[in-house]
Amino acid sequence: MSREEIRKELSQYSSRMRAVEIISLIIFMYMWVTLIAKAWQFDSTYKWIFFLSILVGMVAADAASGVVHWAADTWGSVRWPLIGPTLIRGFREHHLDQKAITHHDFIEANGATALVIIPWLLLCWYYVPANVFLFFVWNSFLWLCAWALMTNQFHKWSHLDQVPGFIQLLQKYRLIISVEHHKNHHSGDHTSHYCITTGWLNPVAEKIYFFRGLEKIITWVSGAAPRSDEKRIGLQSASSS
Ligand SMILES: [Zn+2]
Ligand SMILES: [Zn+2]
Repeated sequence: MSREEIRKELSQYSSRMRAVEIISLIIFMYMWVTLIAKAWQFDSTYKWIFFLSILVGMVAADAASGVVHWAADTWGSVRWPLIGPTLIRGFREHHLDQKAITHHDFIEANGATALVIIPWLLLCWYYVPANVFLFFVWNSFLWLCAWALMTNQFHKWSHLDQVPGFIQLLQKYRLIISVEHHKNHHSGDHTSHYCITTGWLNPVAEKIYFFRGLEKIITWVSGAAPRSDEKRIGLQSASSS
């Protein structure tokens, strides 16, 4: 298969998928706003917990972005049913053409994330905690969902040549993933710097060989080779692991 044919296969984005993404974003927004309004009404003595949860959710989203990004880059195939076209396709396309994401509108960039998060919001919907500690966990999880939804948007901004001044400031002070930091992922074989919400956790993950360690365990247990789909479509050299 030529590189152009691969690019064509990976850039397929059906109108049915778009419809699913639009509906997912609407459901996500409705559920999240309703739940966060409930969180805001929790005992006013604990407003500080509400605000602390925003930060905790952001760190957790960075961790989750790293794990999901690593998993999608490393395992599975675009030909797998359901998660192939919804999740893995975007990651493969991105390695083949970094700038493709900059042409995706808000729906294409973030709709699939909303779809993946909705079942988790449903859990929050049916379980509203009464005690303070569980409220902290529940509210942090809600913020994790919000930051997770915005992750691909932050990622997209890190690939744009020109972003509004306000976004540049957020990037400069590393409140969201910066252009320079994210370049580390795209240099070489895309095997490091997987966290793409803020990138805060990347130095830690690299230092403790977190993702290489996970790969060794998974290969040992399942026998599956990491990045075999990337090698199949020529995104990696056959010798790299
Ligand atoms: Zn990647
Ligand atoms: Zn990228």
